[in-house]
Amino acid sequence: MTRTLYQSHPTAGPVARPSVTLTDLVKTYRIGNSTTRVLDGVTVAFPRRSLTAVMGPSGSGKSTLLQCAAGLDRPTSGSVVIEDVELTRLDETALTRFRRDRLGFVFQSYNLIPTLTVRQNVTLPAELAARHVPASAVRDVLAHLGLDRHADARPAALSGGQQQRAAIARALLADPAVIFADEPTGALDTRAAGQVLGLLRHAVDTAGRTIVMVTHDPVAAAVADAVVFFADGRIRDTLLRPSAEAVAARMATLAAPVEANGGRR
Ligand code: ADP
Ligand code: MG
Repeated sequence: MTRTLYQSHPTAGPVARPSVTLTDLVKTYRIGNSTTRVLDGVTVAFPRRSLTAVMGPSGSGKSTLLQCAAGLDRPTSGSVVIEDVELTRLDETALTRFRRDRLGFVFQSYNLIPTLTVRQNVTLPAELAARHVPASAVRDVLAHLGLDRHADARPAALSGGQQQRAAIARALLADPAVIFADEPTGALDTRAAGQVLGLLRHAVDTAGRTIVMVTHDPVAAAVADAVVFFADGRIRDTLLRPSAEAVAARMATLAAPVEANGGRR
């Protein structure tokens, strides 16, 4: 049974087919004699053309959830379906190809290749997938992201915000079914973070992208269509189009019990 995350959302109602469906996702780690259950049965669907934020206390399993959903890590059990493909049934080669051809990634640390120019960085995934990207498309995306003057610069010459915009350009040019972002504004100042969030929102609203974004920032979460609250490896709550204040208030109630019992998982 899939959570009715967006049932009352105007653009992604109950008839909208999900882009990503996670069913009873479990991830355990064995350290010595003890087993940690980082994902404790997560079931949720992210509809097409939506921006969903995943929030939760530090160490609650948000990155693990994203990594499993994006095929960067394997769940211990449960299923991950993206655009009708069951990721857990793919072997490593097929999974790597699926990620390369169908998914985009944005990380807190940008993950640009330092020896390549911005232009070379943003076209790399398409090149690896042997997919032609017209020079005009590269120009348009770089211009839209305010990077046209930096196309031939290397990442080290750019600010953090510019590097993250380059990472977003790289994700967009790969024409992915889903973009997974883990703390994309985590290393940015307020202004650069605002620009990055605006670009992610724009990608959903005008290009129909599907984005799943982990964040600990209520302001970032308030840009999303829905917020999933995560604690102790489980989804605890969801809010549709909440304000930053509502997100912060809900986070405060989530964080408290975890700290009170010493971060039990
Ligand atoms: P979050 O992103 O919410 O801060 P993570 O998903 O990074 O949380 O981590 C959740 C928990 O899983 C943490 O307790 C972390 O130590 C543990 N964990 C993550 N990766 C591994 C691993 N490879 N081996 C053992 N434990 C891990
Ligand atoms: Mg994390």
